[in-house]
Amino acid sequence: MKQQHFDVLIIGLGMVGSALATFLGDNNFNVAIIDKQQFKSVANTEVPTLRVSAINPNSQALLEAIGAWKLIPENKKAPYTQLKVWDYLEANHRLFNNNQLSFEADLIKQDFLGYIIENQQVQQAILQTLNNHSNVTILPPSTITALNLDANLASIITTDNQHITANLLVGADGAESFVRKSSGLGITKTEYSQHCFTAVVEIAEPAGMTTWQQFAEDNTTAFLPLASNANKHYASLIWHTSAIKANSLSQMNSQQQQQQIEANFPQLLPKIINIVSSGAFPLSKANASNYCLPNLALVGDAAHMVHPLAGQGVNMGFQDVQCLASTLIQAKKQGKNIGDVKILRSYARKRFVANCAMNSVVHSIYLLFNNTNIISKTIRNIGVNVTNRIPFLKKIGAGYASGNCQDIASTLKTILNLN
Ligand SMILES: Cc1cc2nc3c(=O)[nH]c(=O)nc-3n(C[C@H](O)[C@H](O)[C@H](O)COP(=O)(O)OP(=O)(O)OC[C@H]3O[C@@H](n4cnc5c(N)ncnc54)[C@H](O)[C@@H]3O)c2cc1C
Repeated sequence: MKQQHFDVLIIGLGMVGSALATFLGDNNFNVAIIDKQQFKSVANTEVPTLRVSAINPNSQALLEAIGAWKLIPENKKAPYTQLKVWDYLEANHRLFNNNQLSFEADLIKQDFLGYIIENQQVQQAILQTLNNHSNVTILPPSTITALNLDANLASIITTDNQHITANLLVGADGAESFVRKSSGLGITKTEYSQHCFTAVVEIAEPAGMTTWQQFAEDNTTAFLPLASNANKHYASLIWHTSAIKANSLSQMNSQQQQQQIEANFPQLLPKIINIVSSGAFPLSKANASNYCLPNLALVGDAAHMVHPLAGQGVNMGFQDVQCLASTLIQAKKQGKNIGDVKILRSYARKRFVANCAMNSVVHSIYLLFNNTNIISKTIRNIGVNVTNRIPFLKKIGAGYASGNCQDIASTLKTILNLN
C-alpha cells in the first residue's frame, strides 16, 4: 500500500475544492486533492455546456486573486448589468400597474452585477492555475473506501490502495458528501417539491446583459444570458416546476421541449433556433449541523445547499474557501496546528451564520412567490412596489442580488450571540 502525508487533503475537485487547493498552494501549504472522476477538459470553441452559474463580484475577486479569472476565455464570460424579476399575476389580482422589480449594477457602484459562466470553464481555469504549484498534488482519480479521524491526523484509504494522511481533511465533495456522512456530521435537509428543468438554447439574437425571472405559481421561469460564440448566440433557460413536469420535459425530444418552452416562458424570450442541451435536477435546501470536527472541515455543497432561484450556491462555496484559507494561513503564521478544532471552529461559526442568512433569504423568497394565498399575493404586490420606489431598498436588493448578505448575517450573529 502506497503511503503519503500532506498538510491538507481535499476530497472533491469541483469549483470549490480546486479553488481551495490553489489558495492554499499559493500560501506554501503542502496540499493533495482527489476526486472519484477524471475532469473532462472543454475547448472555448465548443457550444456551451449545460451547467452554468451566476458568478458574483465577490467570487470574481476570489478567482482574480488565485489567477483563474484571466484564464476563463473572454468568449465564455457573459456579464449582466441588470436583474429583473416580476410576479405573473392575472390583471384582477394586481394592486399596481407596475409589477416588476429591477436592480441595476450602478446602484451598487459596480460595472456588472455578475457574469454567467459555464461551471466547466470556471473549474478548468482553476485547475490550470494548479499546474504552477509544485506543492499541490492532484492524485489519480479514485474512490475512498475508508475515512478515519485519529487523535491528530485524518486519513483515507482509496480503491487503488493509497493510504493518505493529512493534518486537515477537507470535504469539498458536493451535496452527497462521503466525508460528511462517514464522519458522522448531521445535516438538516428539505427537499423542495419543485425540480429544475434547465436548457441551453441557441437564440436568434445576442442575449444582451439582462437576466430575468418570472415567478408564477409552481412555474418559475428564468433567462440567463450566455456569451455569443462564432456568430451564434446562446442563453441558459431555467424552469422551476413540479418534479413530474421537469422530468417529463427532460425526456421529450428537442422539438417538443421547444414547444413547451415557447408556451410557458414570457413573450420577451428571444426566438429559439434550437435546444443545445437540457436536463432536470432535484432541488433542496440543506445545512450541515457543523462544518468542522478535529482535523476535518466541510466547504461548498458538502456543507450547505440552497435553492438556485437566486444563483448563490457556488458563490457561498467560494466564500467558504476564502474564510477557511484565511483562517488556516493565519494559524500557520502563528505556528499553530491547522487541524486544531478551536481554529476550525472560528471558520465554521462565521460561515454557518452567513450561509444560514443567505439560505433564509432565498427560502423566504421561494415561499412568498410559490404561494397562491391572497395575503401572500398582496404582500408581493406591495413589496415589489415599495422596493421599486425606495432607492435605499433597491440598493439592498441589488447588493443581495450580487451576493452580499452581510447585513442579514450580522443581525443573525447578534441574535445567536456568536462572534
Ligand atoms: C440547477 C442548478 C442551477 C444552479 N445555478 C447556480 C448559479 O447560478 N450560481 C451559483 O452560485 N450556484 C448555482 N448552483 C449551485 C452550484 O452548482 C453548486 O453550489 C456548486 O456546483 C457546488 O460546487 P462544489 O464544488 O461544492 O460541489 P460539486 O460541484 O458537486 O463538486 C464536488 C466534486 O466532488 C467529487 N466527489 C463527490 N463524491 C466524491 C467522493 N466520494 N470521493 C471523491 N470525490 C468525490 C465530484 O466528482 C465533484 O467533482 C446551481 C445548482 C443547480 C442544481
